[in-house]
Amino acid sequence: MRVIPPTELDVLVVGAGFSGLYSLHRLRTLGRSVHLVEADDDLGGVWYRNRYPGARCDIESVDYCYSFDDSIVQDWTWAERYPAQPEILRYINFVADRLELRSGISFDTRVDAMHWDADAFVWLVTTDRGDTIRARHVIMASGQLSKPQLPDIEGIEQFAGELLHTGDWPRDGVQLTGKRVGVIGTGSSGVQTIPQVAKLAAHTTVLQRTAHYAIPARNHDLDPAYVQDLKSRFQDYREIARHHPGGTHRHIGTESALDVDPGALEETFHGHWEKGGPDILAAYRDFRTNEEAAEKAGDFVKERIREIVKDPETAEKLCPKGYPFGAKRLVLEIDYYTTFNRDDVSLVDVKADPIERIEGNDVVLASGARHELDVLITATGFDALTGPLFAIDIVGVDGQRLPDAWKDGPRTFLGIGTHGFPNLYVVAGAGSPSVISNVLISIEQHVEWITTFIDHQFRNGIVSAEVDDDAQDRWTQEVYDIAAPTLFMKGNSWYLGANIPGKPRVFSLYLGGVGHYRDICDKVAADDYAGFTLT
Ligand code: FAD
Repeated sequence: MRVIPPTELDVLVVGAGFSGLYSLHRLRTLGRSVHLVEADDDLGGVWYRNRYPGARCDIESVDYCYSFDDSIVQDWTWAERYPAQPEILRYINFVADRLELRSGISFDTRVDAMHWDADAFVWLVTTDRGDTIRARHVIMASGQLSKPQLPDIEGIEQFAGELLHTGDWPRDGVQLTGKRVGVIGTGSSGVQTIPQVAKLAAHTTVLQRTAHYAIPARNHDLDPAYVQDLKSRFQDYREIARHHPGGTHRHIGTESALDVDPGALEETFHGHWEKGGPDILAAYRDFRTNEEAAEKAGDFVKERIREIVKDPETAEKLCPKGYPFGAKRLVLEIDYYTTFNRDDVSLVDVKADPIERIEGNDVVLASGARHELDVLITATGFDALTGPLFAIDIVGVDGQRLPDAWKDGPRTFLGIGTHGFPNLYVVAGAGSPSVISNVLISIEQHVEWITTFIDHQFRNGIVSAEVDDDAQDRWTQEVYDIAAPTLFMKGNSWYLGANIPGKPRVFSLYLGGVGHYRDICDKVAADDYAGFTLT
């Protein structure tokens, strides 16, 4: 039975992933009337939907978790270094059950529209179930990667076989055994799923446009003694991550890769390759900013690819080209490169011979070549950051719509709020460290800051908080200025909106570091929320 949302609320929370669940819990403990609406039929957000074979986190489990309740920390034990989707989903359910969150959630309920009522200082929210909710504040916990994006290929929707997107995987699983399966998309999800698909399918055809850099995950079961030791000092351990640039415990090199002799460089790279994980990104201080330095790591990875993949032509296709190492999200792999040594896996370079259309069961290339498939898996990512927000008809002060206000890219103050849209807060979205950090650290920081701000307003008789235009201009400029000299600008990636036709090409994530960002937010709060007009 669906829980009917209340018609009047202090706070409405949109989305039941990690962000929304913690927001709901925190506002309850602060004594606010709060309710959560979720479009899916259960909780978990991306970890509910991304059930494709091989789906896994690339932040270590002991870091990718909540820290706000020590009894949860003590009572949950992670099994793997990099947890797979089922383990994370079990964890989210464990937390939701422990905190009795389900009673405050309306599932199968999508927010369609939110209009600001400037006379009453409330958001008038409507849902696809016909609910109307008047909420003084709305927290958008609607996710960064919750709107899957199909590739723009003629005829794809009419594919005669089974068409799947990794970000919206069928709840009951998919039968891949003995099928001819094609995969479009070789970013994180593609690299994770291809080896697993290949184990089941009769034949796997990987249609690759852009090769990504992938580093071994070296995933393993966690030693119980290690986990126990971490639990005994978890808050100290977490405090380090809260003030770390990436929200992790990654060692950040201080040397330039250009100053180190080739032998030492090779040794460092081998060390990272053997240890596994993404820490190689921070091995030298100039990997984010200097192409020549970054290419040293790029060359090392390409050498490994040529070593692993037996067919030289396939190996060459798998070597990334045209962008520097680290400019796109670094992918963690398990059995990815070795999969291309299988006889039942083929790699098709669709940059050289682009996909022209889908016809019946066939993927037809420009050359006329056809690949007949039973199942087509698209691992083509998401309309990131703004997609879930723009899918809602959000209308602020003077009838302004959010997509118009952000037509040249997101404009925010701290990533939390935007001018013209009072009492509206976004968790871990554009303008904040978000998906460039350990998102769980960023979510906890945002939820705590936002809910404290909302509570402050109620305690002080404040009915509205709106971001000042000039504070927003300064912050937006700072976000862009920090990103401008980095190699991210050369990645042609989803970080830049490059995977969505017509999306403005801006890098809207805050790269100044999670710890520094936290200090800035804390200072704004200490300065009586300077940058917001409080009414
Ligand atoms: P989500 O989990 O996206 O939840 C948002 C929820 O809002 C969804 O349930 C959605 O249905 C709901 N919603 C959206 N719009 C509406 C609406 N209009 N009405 C009602 N409900 C709505 N991050 C890391 O830090 N490390 C990783 O290794 C990592 N791996 C990832 C792997 C994958 C495959 C994906 C997709 C993401 C990964 N992320 C990772 C990023 C991930 O998005 C965050 O870590 C985190 O889970 C986001 O939680 P969230 O609650 O903010 O958003």
